[in-house]
Amino acid sequence: MTKHIDAVSGSCLCGRVTFEVNEPVKWCGHCHCDLCRRAHGAPFVTWFGVATDDFRLTGGEEDLRWYHSSEEAKRGFCSECGSTMFFSSSRWADEMHIALPFMHADVSKKPSVHVYWDRQVHWVTVADDLKKLGGPTGVEELDQ
Ligand SMILES: [Zn+2]
Ligand SMILES: [Zn+2]
Repeated sequence: MTKHIDAVSGSCLCGRVTFEVNEPVKWCGHCHCDLCRRAHGAPFVTWFGVATDDFRLTGGEEDLRWYHSSEEAKRGFCSECGSTMFFSSSRWADEMHIALPFMHADVSKKPSVHVYWDRQVHWVTVADDLKKLGGPTGVEELDQ
């Protein structure tokens, strides 16, 4: 019996860099860290993760650049339009993290958590019931 794998595609703003992920994705959540905020020019960034084997670039390899935002992590962006789409870190060496807004369709998981919650900006109010984690690693339980 062949296992059927659904794939969801995505691309940058200008459409040069295109990619696909296999479902099901592993997790989805909002990140409030300073680096995501600056890299994306947004109050927080919504990411999901897939195993590196479940991610493939389908176009624009020559337009994709990687910026090392810290010693262990790099962020992949399109050199033409500047869209920052990917995050890869030795902390999650077997995963590719992808910013949800670049997908052409919904992935199988909705955001379930806020990480680096204690670094959130004060000029946006988030009032949902999702789990809120923070601390030095961004994913520790917080006293609420
Ligand atoms: Zn682009
Ligand atoms: Zn972040």
